[in-house]
Amino acid sequence: MTVTVRFAPSPTGRIHIGNARTALFNWLFALRNRGRFIQRFDDTDTERSRQEFADSILYDLHWLGIFPDQTEYQSRRFASYDAAVETLKAAGLLYPCYETAEELDLRRKVRRTRGMPPVYGREALKLTDDERAALDQDGRRPHWRFLLPNFVSDPFESERTEVHWNDLVRGEETVDLASLSDPVLVREDGTYLYTLPSVVDDIEMGVTHIIRGDDHVTNTGVQIALFKALGAEPPVFGHHNLLTTASGEGLSKRTGALSIESLRDGGIEPMSVASLAVLVGTSENVAAATNLSELAEKFDPASTSKSAAKFDPDELVVLNRALLHHMPFAEVRDRLMLLGISGEHAETFWVAVRGNLDRLSDAGTWWRILRDGPQQAAELPEEDREFVGQAFDLLPEEPWDGDVWKDWTAKVRKATGRKGKALFMPLRLALTGLESGPELADLLPLVGREGTLARRP
Ligand code: GLU
Repeated sequence: MTVTVRFAPSPTGRIHIGNARTALFNWLFALRNRGRFIQRFDDTDTERSRQEFADSILYDLHWLGIFPDQTEYQSRRFASYDAAVETLKAAGLLYPCYETAEELDLRRKVRRTRGMPPVYGREALKLTDDERAALDQDGRRPHWRFLLPNFVSDPFESERTEVHWNDLVRGEETVDLASLSDPVLVREDGTYLYTLPSVVDDIEMGVTHIIRGDDHVTNTGVQIALFKALGAEPPVFGHHNLLTTASGEGLSKRTGALSIESLRDGGIEPMSVASLAVLVGTSENVAAATNLSELAEKFDPASTSKSAAKFDPDELVVLNRALLHHMPFAEVRDRLMLLGISGEHAETFWVAVRGNLDRLSDAGTWWRILRDGPQQAAELPEEDREFVGQAFDLLPEEPWDGDVWKDWTAKVRKATGRKGKALFMPLRLALTGLESGPELADLLPLVGREGTLARRP
């Protein structure tokens, strides 16, 4: 059977690095198993879901290197959910309930004071046909609960009923169905909660592995029961730990914090995001992989920790530097062109500056410095100004070869007696206006003789 996974966000905001973790776990799992990846939009909440968010999620996934084999929208699949509702009703596994939220709250409190677990007591199952008809007559609309299989013959005599699965991430997992309330699958207004559509889709789309955040572990107990109630074999499950900020706060699509879009706009490379999103909170070292196949090699769901993974956005810059440092010119040529960097020196320039970049866009700054001069002329003390003037008088004639910096500074050393930092710092400041940056030996040929002389302080 072809391994089939899905990533199923609701399109109610832009995805963040935590969502990217789920998407990538699925994508890499599919990659390792030559499987298929379904992009499913859980948009049954038509009020909050928006097509523009679905589009932006697809855009973010493409940017990360994820290209779904299939894209589905739950809002277009209500007929399938309605059919499943009929199946469950016919089997007596979906029953109407009329309690208000206040009534339920009160009942929970009563159960607690009696030392009983605060789960729903299935009171609605006791309603007679006449009572139900009267409620309907009054204009009351029911919500519908799934009767969990946690009893032998009498639903009011529930007993410990363990559901087991071997989790891809967490190993052996158990949920006791008697510890849960019968879940509401359909609301009063006929809209669906997430539980049923998800299972119906997973069955109809042939999903073999559900990999998602560990906030869904309890849902899994219920969903396994639903798969069985609908006559399907449950798929394999894997629940990964969630990412939190360095101070331990959860991430939310609604706040836009650490959205993929903001990271992209901040100049973070897709593979920096992917490497951190996948490797943080696992036993693997967090290091930048250059592409998703390489990351897939390191990816092992079972090496993921069970506790929440704190991550530090500063690490993204560290990974970015590592990636840019070795990035071949061919890979960035087009993006450099968009920064105005092109022509015969573009590749030499790239190789000279890449080791100094936090972000690719910093290359644009270096290009302008080399071409137009320092952004801000350095203020040199009088003696350094004199020294730079003297050094410039010794600048070799062109054509220059790769040794020009070495040859020039050897002459300058001899003539002025300066060496080390006293020699190169004034030259660096005169050439670039900055105290640090790429090797001067690499920069000098890019500035050229004319450009250098134009920088005479
Ligand atoms: N829409 C659900 C969520 O974003 C999907 C969970 C699942 O993967 O089943 O949490």
